[in-house]
Amino acid sequence: MDNQFSLQGKVAVVTGATRGLGQGMAVGLAKAGADIIGVGFSEQTETKTIIEDLGRKFYEINADLSKQDELASVVQEAINKTGRVDILINNAGIIRREQAENFSDQDWDDVVDVNLSAVFRLTRDFGKHMIENGSGKIINIASMLSFQGGMKVPAYSATKHGVAGLTKSFANEWASKGINVNAIAPGYMATDNTAPLRADKDRNAYITSRIPQSEWGTPEDLAGPAVFLASESARYVNGHILCVDGGWMGS
Ligand code: NAD
Repeated sequence: MDNQFSLQGKVAVVTGATRGLGQGMAVGLAKAGADIIGVGFSEQTETKTIIEDLGRKFYEINADLSKQDELASVVQEAINKTGRVDILINNAGIIRREQAENFSDQDWDDVVDVNLSAVFRLTRDFGKHMIENGSGKIINIASMLSFQGGMKVPAYSATKHGVAGLTKSFANEWASKGINVNAIAPGYMATDNTAPLRADKDRNAYITSRIPQSEWGTPEDLAGPAVFLASESARYVNGHILCVDGGWMGS
């Protein structure tokens, strides 16, 4: 039987592949056969080692995705390195926590720049390249806060709602051009991003009690869903937001 989940011969760009969910998905795609271009603003040594040990190529691009002028060169550099990009995972994201009435302009701008503006620009520019190739898979990383408001995270929630909107908007325009644009909405996953929540004993206990699977997810839990959406198995899936959340959204 053909392996409909194989990514053999494909090249995937993963932003924020240094650690956490980005690393989990990059490793998953590499296990399925893809070479990886990691985009990040710190050393990606650990991810590079894991992927090369799997026998796949790892290319590193250093860029600060909050800086508009660095985004265009990311696209060009990626295409120059491999000649072709088949898969884009817009994973890099940040969160700032503060009471809504005290939330600063600076925090708002910082979160919007990375979580929303960079996703828009990278999707637009890699998408143009994919349209020329006649195929491509784009996976945006959304959140439970693409559906809910959350507490003390107005910018994060607004941008993740925006990511859901961008996903559907690009899918509408590009589905007929051979491009699949989908999103994964992770639930509560154990990474640096959520370390403060897990450090708060009461909050941690409350969150865990509300997850039907009674445990936080891990970066590895996103590998399979990412491989699925990046593969030909997802040929007829477009504009979808796939919750990977231990049952949270249904509860
Ligand atoms: P993380 O903080 O562990 O990793 C974030 C990654 O993004 C890092 O590699 C970091 O270097 C990179 N990054 C941040 N700002 C950047 C910038 N300006 N330029 C380049 N790279 C930058 O976080 P994570 O938990 O792995 O989150 C990954 C994605 O998943 C984010 O979009 C986050 O919003 C989303 N998410 C996480 C959870 C969770 O529970 N952890 C839940 C839902 C959604």
